Amino acid sequence: MATKKNTKKAEEKKAPAVNLWKREQGWDKLDEKELKQLETYCDEYIQFLSKAKTERIAHDIALDMAIKNGFENLDELNKEGKKLKPGMKVYRSCYGKTLFLAQIGKEPLENGLNLVGAHIDCPRLDAKPFPLVEDDKLLFIDTHYYGGIKKYQWTTIPLALHGVVFKKDGTKVQISIGEDPSDPVLTITDLLPHLGNDQAAKPLGTAFQGDALNVLIASRPVDKAKDDKDIGEKTKLRILLMLKEKYGIEEEDFASAELEIVPAGPARHLGLDKSMILGYGHDDRVCAFATIKAMFDAKGIPNRTRAAVICDKEEIGSYGQTGMDSTFMENTVAELVNLTQDTYSDLQVRRALERSNMLSADVCALHDPAFGDVSSPNNMPKINCGVALIKYTGSRGKGGSSDASAEFVSQVRKIFNDNKVIWQMGELGKVDVGGGGTIALYLARYGMNVIDCGVGLFSMHAPMETAGKLDVYMAYKAYKAFYEA
Ligand code: MN
Ligand code: MN
Repeated sequence: MATKKNTKKAEEKKAPAVNLWKREQGWDKLDEKELKQLETYCDEYIQFLSKAKTERIAHDIALDMAIKNGFENLDELNKEGKKLKPGMKVYRSCYGKTLFLAQIGKEPLENGLNLVGAHIDCPRLDAKPFPLVEDDKLLFIDTHYYGGIKKYQWTTIPLALHGVVFKKDGTKVQISIGEDPSDPVLTITDLLPHLGNDQAAKPLGTAFQGDALNVLIASRPVDKAKDDKDIGEKTKLRILLMLKEKYGIEEEDFASAELEIVPAGPARHLGLDKSMILGYGHDDRVCAFATIKAMFDAKGIPNRTRAAVICDKEEIGSYGQTGMDSTFMENTVAELVNLTQDTYSDLQVRRALERSNMLSADVCALHDPAFGDVSSPNNMPKINCGVALIKYTGSRGKGGSSDASAEFVSQVRKIFNDNKVIWQMGELGKVDVGGGGTIALYLARYGMNVIDCGVGLFSMHAPMETAGKLDVYMAYKAYKAFYEA
């Protein structure tokens, strides 16, 4: 039995206030001014996405923007023997496909960098080295797909061709066909439903074979007057003559070419309310654009050096010369250490990398009610609920994942909350139905803090992907806050 005194104490004890963690769309949290900023930002992003159809083009546009924003060539400064001072902005290109940007901070490099990294390569169809194949007077480009695609989605849509060809003498020819409304486009044909009974009975994954992704590029045999009796493939002959005349290209030149076939046409506002963006290559140009824009717009001279990397080859595992598995970034940080400090040591480079904080800026899957059976609605990011932090990726029990530490999530979360960034946590979907990865693990190996942070998408890796404008804008705001922290 309670005494009178004890009863009074119990009455004074109020129930503790609890804050439920609710996830909702963020529109009402933005004032008129910020809603306008969001629209302006998205308009500029749509322009970028419509032009940046390959990693090379994305790299070149970003480099051009960087130079306009006062970034100098690190390799040139190095040659001139110039030292870097706080506030200076530098860039370094990795073979025209991966680009590193940095603004030197007041603290020594060995204190670590604030780094944001995204990728600019996207799933697509690459022309094979011997690409021109004629069959029954139809001319095709034989392709090898790049990245994870659902093959059937790439048939019957207008396609464009972009890339470079290096001729016998080493000169470079740039090709871009299919974006201007007056340009012709290319396509992959599909079977009509009237003859499609057998095809329709096959599983989705096997009904369309990778090797059958042949892009139709011509159907008219060469004019009699220009015919070469020794060449049997007459439609190919017409195109070879055309290529020779227009670009000076011979068939063997395709051996030293990188030609990419991508969906033709610009990105568009999506929805009657224009609340979304439909376009090719949101993965991961949506985060790449936000990364460089945040870098350009971040205020003041930072304490810790700010850096951005927009990289190639993520979609095929980050391997190779221009992927994040290469030593490009490590070498670049070594150059920065060398040009900012009086004495250089390998230890300083290791410290700079290990003490860095990084947002691995990549897209993630949105909860799509149309595919609720593979979703985990409480834990999958939802459209326009903000930029998504993905603590871990991987598959089969987080296999292959770089699981960010709770400590680092706490730091990032505080930066976002302090700067009114609308954000959400997320993971891929139902456990054990699939999996995926990002560049995070290639940076985590240096011992740095790294977490995936990016925009949620519908229809990821499809020719046309969908993103919510609020999320698109919040990625920019998040990366900027991270740089300014
Ligand atoms: Mn990605
Ligand atoms: Mn991807």
